[in-house]
Amino acid sequence: MDALPGWTYVLIALAILALITVAVAVTVSLRSRGGKAVPPSAPTDAGAPPPRADEAEVTAPTEVTGQEAAAPPVPEEALPTLEQPEGTASRLVRLRQRLSRSQGALGKGLLALLSRDKLDEDTWESIEDTLLTADIGVAPTTQLVDNLRTRLRVEGGEATEARRVLSEELLALVNPDLDRRLRVTGEDGKPGVVLVVGVNGVGKTTTVGKIGRILVAEDRSVVMGAADTFRAAAAEQLGTWGERVGVDVVRGPEGTDPASVAFEAVKEGIDRGVDTVLVDTAGRLQNKAGLMDELGKVKRVIEKLTPVTEVLLVLDATTGQNGMIQARVFAEAVDVTGIVLTKLDGSAKGGIVVAVQRELGVPVKLVGLGEGPDDLAPFEPQAFVDALLG
Ligand code: GDP
Repeated sequence: MDALPGWTYVLIALAILALITVAVAVTVSLRSRGGKAVPPSAPTDAGAPPPRADEAEVTAPTEVTGQEAAAPPVPEEALPTLEQPEGTASRLVRLRQRLSRSQGALGKGLLALLSRDKLDEDTWESIEDTLLTADIGVAPTTQLVDNLRTRLRVEGGEATEARRVLSEELLALVNPDLDRRLRVTGEDGKPGVVLVVGVNGVGKTTTVGKIGRILVAEDRSVVMGAADTFRAAAAEQLGTWGERVGVDVVRGPEGTDPASVAFEAVKEGIDRGVDTVLVDTAGRLQNKAGLMDELGKVKRVIEKLTPVTEVLLVLDATTGQNGMIQARVFAEAVDVTGIVLTKLDGSAKGGIVVAVQRELGVPVKLVGLGEGPDDLAPFEPQAFVDALLG
């Protein structure tokens, strides 16, 4: 084949140059639209330098992934399209149905036993066993059975009556009067700070991502901090959750002091004037003293900037007694203000709600009902009891 004339090469080179310029321009414009818009201005005192007394605690460099990160241009095909999280109404309807599917067996079993013609000792024992199998715990089970015996003797054992009495007693056990609101709003113009703690594998990072989506769906501005610096995968995972809904994630290199990442995330949130900062933490249950030191330090360092408004303990509902042991250890390490019970979709042992609330004296505020991004619901006592009774 003949060689092309020299000017053809010049034209080809110019065309390639033009293509590269267009690609870079498109990439930059998409990146600037990728992050959630948060007011750039910070309250006048919010951006002030932190107190330096504990300086050594906050030293490692951190990185913000999202709209203002100084990352090299990303190829266009790698850029995420922003998702619209599911709206509250449809999410709640969908998840209430899922709760009924996973928990309905307990109530049906109890109602079948309570509807027997004769409530003899064997039947009461079977009722007790059913409650214990659902992880309600020994003391609440005894209390429930005693109350049922007394009330059904007085109020009669008709099936509809039994259902009403059981429903009322279960509701009382779940304690509908506890304040289950999530404290995501700060004071003095600063963000609310939600610290999420729990053992590895319970669904902590997933829960942080899901809460982020709920807040975005409610038009709140959010920054997330990936303070589980012991697992690179955790920071990656949170980065992905953030990207999907345009929430920026502050993270540090693997092995960075978790407290420094938490500090930087909250500082970033204050500087940008966001509504809420969500902080994921490391879940190594190495030893109690180590855990206390680590979580205590994370909280202390954040509170140099602004108070932590909520400490959520994430527990896996499928782990039964093991989960209860974890709950005790964490409650000693940090002042837990709410519980998130994950994987309720995969376990019929919803009774753990009662057990863990009793143990910690802290309300279950959220329940995880699946691996989908919007499968997190507020815990509603009446809806829960209705789900149990099918
Ligand atoms: P972490 O180590 O505590 O941060 O746990 P992850 O967030 O990485 O979650 C561990 C696994 O649990 C993942 O496969 C999640 O998809 C799964 N998971 C989290 N929450 C739920 C839930 O509510 N239901 C179900 N079925 N799976 C969940």
